[in-house]
Amino acid sequence: MPNYDLHSHTYHSDGTLSPSDLVKRACCNGVDVLAVTDHDITTGIREAQGAAQAAGILLVPGVEISVTWGAQTVHIVGLGIDPDEVSLQAGLAEQLKFRSWRAEEIGRLLERKGIGGAYSGACSRARGALISRTHFAQFLAAEGYVRDKRDAFAKYLVRGKPGHVPGQWATLPEALGWIRASGGHAVIAHPARYKLSATRLQRLLTEFKESGGEAIEVVSGSHSRDDCLRFATLSVRYDLLASSGSDYHGPEAPWVDLGKLPPLPESCRALWASWQIADFPPGGA
Ligand code: AMP
Ligand code: MN
Ligand code: MN
Ligand code: MN
Repeated sequence: MPNYDLHSHTYHSDGTLSPSDLVKRACCNGVDVLAVTDHDITTGIREAQGAAQAAGILLVPGVEISVTWGAQTVHIVGLGIDPDEVSLQAGLAEQLKFRSWRAEEIGRLLERKGIGGAYSGACSRARGALISRTHFAQFLAAEGYVRDKRDAFAKYLVRGKPGHVPGQWATLPEALGWIRASGGHAVIAHPARYKLSATRLQRLLTEFKESGGEAIEVVSGSHSRDDCLRFATLSVRYDLLASSGSDYHGPEAPWVDLGKLPPLPESCRALWASWQIADFPPGGA
């Protein structure tokens, strides 16, 4: 059975490795098929494709799109996208515009709490065009305002905390529209992270499917064994396919690594079951 890892980040979003180093590490770890899925940006894909070709592994071009659903942020992974597709890039440009404004706003909010230089500190930690809350967390930890990144999120960057700015991301149908227009397959990322009631989860899965969503990330670096079994059952109940991805961001978080995921539970139908190696990447990009 090939080793699939269909969710990972480079320093083009909030990961810490270059696309080439990410691919090298995936290859060393035994990954056969790797998806690079940076947040709201596709600028790392070209380099990753070159590195994957050199390393002899398959690269799935991907993206993880931030979506505002209800009052919540939900992440949708698109796999097998064509990164040059016009409507996808137009949508991602809007996401980036909001990110830039939000970063300035987070800087202003932290300034009011007596934390100066957060905006420029976050910008200088971003290696690409995209600024993430992760870059603010890195700044807050490096400057000694918090113990570590996790503490930075808990104290400053999540809802109810002084540096929080509510998301104004794409709607679910918009994000799925961009993924589908670019030939990709849409997957709900790390579903156990959303803390939804049973009714709201039911609604999310239904709306996702109605908009053309295909799969749930049943196996994820952030899922417990119970989470995995729970979402395996839900994937079958909702007739959705199952995906698997580490959500690797870099070696600073050694508890998650590329290609070290448990297998999909037997009850699931794998998203990749119908992918043909001959016409890789899936989606035809
Ligand atoms: P953003 O898309 O800029 O709002 O940032 C979201 C990213 O922050 C996620 O993709 C995670 O990588 C990271 N993140 C979110 N919550 C936490 C947390 N509690 N601790 C550490 N990282 C987090
Ligand atoms: Mn992230
Ligand atoms: Mn995510
Ligand atoms: Mn991710």
